[in-house]
Amino acid sequence: MTTRQADFHISFDELRFLLRDIFLKNGTSSIVADILSANCAGCERDGAISHGIFRVPGYVASLVTGWVDGKTEPDVDLASPSFIRIDAHNGFAQPALAAGAEAIKAAVEGTGIAIVAIRNSHHFSALWPDVEPFAREGLFALSFVNGLANVVPHGGHSRVYGTNPIAFATPVAGGEPLVVDQATSVLANGEVRLHALANTPLPPGTGVDSAGRPSTDPHTILAGGALNTFGGYKGSSIALMVELMAGALTGGQLSFENDFGDHVGAQTPKAGQLLLVIDPARGGNAGYAGRVSHLCSRLIDAGQDRLPGQRRYANRLKAERLGIPISEGNLVQLKTLACLTGRFLLNETPDRNPLPMSPETP
Ligand code: NDP
Repeated sequence: MTTRQADFHISFDELRFLLRDIFLKNGTSSIVADILSANCAGCERDGAISHGIFRVPGYVASLVTGWVDGKTEPDVDLASPSFIRIDAHNGFAQPALAAGAEAIKAAVEGTGIAIVAIRNSHHFSALWPDVEPFAREGLFALSFVNGLANVVPHGGHSRVYGTNPIAFATPVAGGEPLVVDQATSVLANGEVRLHALANTPLPPGTGVDSAGRPSTDPHTILAGGALNTFGGYKGSSIALMVELMAGALTGGQLSFENDFGDHVGAQTPKAGQLLLVIDPARGGNAGYAGRVSHLCSRLIDAGQDRLPGQRRYANRLKAERLGIPISEGNLVQLKTLACLTGRFLLNETPDRNPLPMSPETP
């Protein structure tokens, strides 16, 4: 996990407003700017930095090239009382999910489950912000997203899958929700880019070069190489499932069907997202959240050093007290982007982060 340089501390709201200005300046509607800025500032606050301000140049490049539509309005329709289909119309996934909020609530209340299939959507962030709020309402949420093909199938030599993350969140009696959020590649692509910026090698087994030979060089993996799926052939099959759930079942694109075409410099993947929201009380399970708490205690008793999500919660608490750490360089870059449109970013090659939000060397 990469760490950050802290020349200053900025409050969550200050960062959120700065990001909002950037999104508005670069062609989003105010509702999209509100949603993306809260999401991105939340990632930075929680220390999910591969999906925080580091991603801003990528968002901006996709907006100014017209690859993503920052002003479009999603369409929500009901295929059945519990199956909600959302067409993001080439917009971002998070506003599409927000547009489905009322339908999701009604489906869960009425049937115990909502299946939310989002298509034609760009997801460029972490998944935990999509699932954690449901767990805070006492619900179990599970989500899958596909993306840009930059992962080889087990034993393969060419890119098929995105880094295809999975996240789930569940209520825990007497505590914060348990949230697991992970790529199905060995590392998230953002982590590889952070290593490339810091010029640090990756662990053995992370990826391959363009000929399919093992590589630990982040530059090689980004420039025509690929990541491996986690967990050998078993992880590869999980990536396959995510590709089907998020890319095919929703009516979205498969990761390898992404083609930036004339949108040189764009970075956000156009793909799909599937979300399941389940009311645990329908299981007749005699106090589900208490059972989760019991299991979590057993995990710690059994020697697991911490629960998933705990690092983020600790960062969140610290940021609430001290502010969010940010380097002077990154703050200047954000302020620049809030004043100018991001067209000047596009002189760089698409595989590089054109205006890197640089972290401290890990
Ligand atoms: P990590 O490997 O850093 O973490 C995966 C999960 O494991 C987290 O829930 C984490 O909790 C938990 N965890 C980490 N270490 C431990 C430990 N020692 N004990 C118990 N739990 C642990 O995540 P990835 O690098 O795989 O993914 C990073 C992010 O990238 C995710 O948010 C993912 O959604 C995002 N992503 C987004 C994509 C997109 O297309 N939008 C594509 C791929 C990834 P904690 O957070 O508390 O550390």
